[in-house]
Formats: sequence, C-alpha cells, structure tokens
Amino acid sequence: MPEGSYPPDWPDISRRIRERAGGQCECTGQCALHRGQRCQERDRKPARFASGQVVLTVAHLNHCKSDCRDENLLAMCNTCHLRYDHVLHLRNAAATRADYATADLFQEDPKLHPGRRDDA
Ligand SMILES: [Zn+2]
Ligand SMILES: [Zn+2]
Repeated sequence: MPEGSYPPDWPDISRRIRERAGGQCECTGQCALHRGQRCQERDRKPARFASGQVVLTVAHLNHCKSDCRDENLLAMCNTCHLRYDHVLHLRNAAATRADYATADLFQEDPKLHPGRRDDA
C-alpha cells in the first residue's frame, strides 16, 4: 500500500503540527494557489476564500500516511488540503492517462480572487 496508514499516535502528531502552525494554514503554494504567499486561513475562523468555517487539517506532503516526520507534514486549511490532494491526484492521473484533460482544472477558480479580473 503506497499510502500506508496513520500511526497510533496520529492525534498527538496532528495536534503538534497544528500548534506549530499557530492555528494558521501553513500552505505556501503547495495547493497551487497563493502565489508563494502563505495562506491566510485560520482555524475555526470564517473562511476568506471559501464559504463556511476553516478547519485546519494536517496533510502528508508525500501522501504516505505512515510518514509522520515534521518535514512531511503541513497544517492545511480544508480548502488547501482538498486542492492539494486534487492536484496530486491529477498529476498521478495525468502520468497514467496521456489524454487526461487537466488544463482547465489547473486554472485558478476566479471566485477565489474576486478582486482580480482578467476579462477587463
Ligand atoms: Zn490554506
Ligand atoms: Zn494553499
């Protein structure tokens, strides 16, 4: 199994990483957003770039759930985590399916950047 499984002390690990993050998403573009800036979303605050409330989660950067080294873990808001998984999923899919239409899926959602208009 490439993904492995969560270690028994995962709840402690997860809490430690979210404490390291200071309650703020640690994503700095891994989800393909933010342009190199750190994500502004904070745990249990109303989401800025999505609807609802932010839930800070902990992502495995290499997607191996048994690999819980600090450098493999990143506190991510639910939006970033979902996008990050999605981007990785697309990369894997694209690697195995040459005809996979990824181009439009990689484009940023304009709803996430209401201040920017490219169609002016
Ligand atoms: Zn985020
Ligand atoms: Zn992000």
